[in-house]
Amino acid sequence: MTVLAFDVGGTDVKAALVDADGTVRTVLRSPTPRAGEDTPVLVVAEIARLAGELRTTHPDATPAAAGLVVPGMVDEERGLAVWSENLGWHDAPLRAMAREALGVPVAFGHDTAAGGLAERRLGAAAGYDDVAVVTIGTGIAAALVVGGRPHRGGGLAGEIGHAPVAGSDEPCACGRRGCLEATASAAAITRRYDARTGTGVAGARDVLARATAGDAVAREIWDSAVVALAFSFAHLVAVLAPEAIVVGGGLAHAGPALFEPLGSQLAAYLTFQRMPALLPARIGGDAGVLGAALMAQDLIR
Ligand SMILES: [Zn+2]
Repeated sequence: MTVLAFDVGGTDVKAALVDADGTVRTVLRSPTPRAGEDTPVLVVAEIARLAGELRTTHPDATPAAAGLVVPGMVDEERGLAVWSENLGWHDAPLRAMAREALGVPVAFGHDTAAGGLAERRLGAAAGYDDVAVVTIGTGIAAALVVGGRPHRGGGLAGEIGHAPVAGSDEPCACGRRGCLEATASAAAITRRYDARTGTGVAGARDVLARATAGDAVAREIWDSAVVALAFSFAHLVAVLAPEAIVVGGGLAHAGPALFEPLGSQLAAYLTFQRMPALLPARIGGDAGVLGAALMAQDLIR
């Protein structure tokens, strides 16, 4: 069965038509509409418009269901987008609204969890029963699989980005200081460098390039981000003993410049514990929308 899939992010909405075998026919992108309290209405109108475009482009396909994933706090059971600091919504009944607008059953969930589902079924986390899929982009969050089953904690599990790390006093979007996300996300690395130097860098990769070229401030910020991530991962290891930690999101594109020091620092924090395999995510930027499609297919089955 072909399904529609939507990944609503802080910047853009991705929409795809995905066949039963996982073939992604088309991925459309458009800017996420924002209008305060009216944002949920506009977002649902936008996904309905994108669905129309997909149906027109592929008249042979009859989508049997849709998957919709969003950031922030999500109540999967009641189909509510509870809260998002970026999108500004509160308890929006997005699943019911999307079902009404699309005319098909809708599977609804969290973007990080959907990305984790895609990595576990089709990507780097396949074959592991105890695994964390950590996304490091604008924010930091983990999708957890424990004993072969996703551990969701009512949609609140895996929010490691908003747990404190040692030695940080950085202000965070959540309102407190010293969170992992405020120290080590791609956005935080960029912001911290800009604040220290008064220059505007293009992103975390630019900070890394400067560190490699001998910029002492860039080196200090990059290294402190790696230490903070390893500190947080050490706690994941202590609590969950994952066989592997899969790292995706923009920061993972740094490759060995991230994975090698992260692995050494994590190993330095561990003694008798099992050192997890640190693996780059395989699916990349479309993991959320692909996970939404898998959720929609599970709904039909
Ligand atoms: Zn925070």
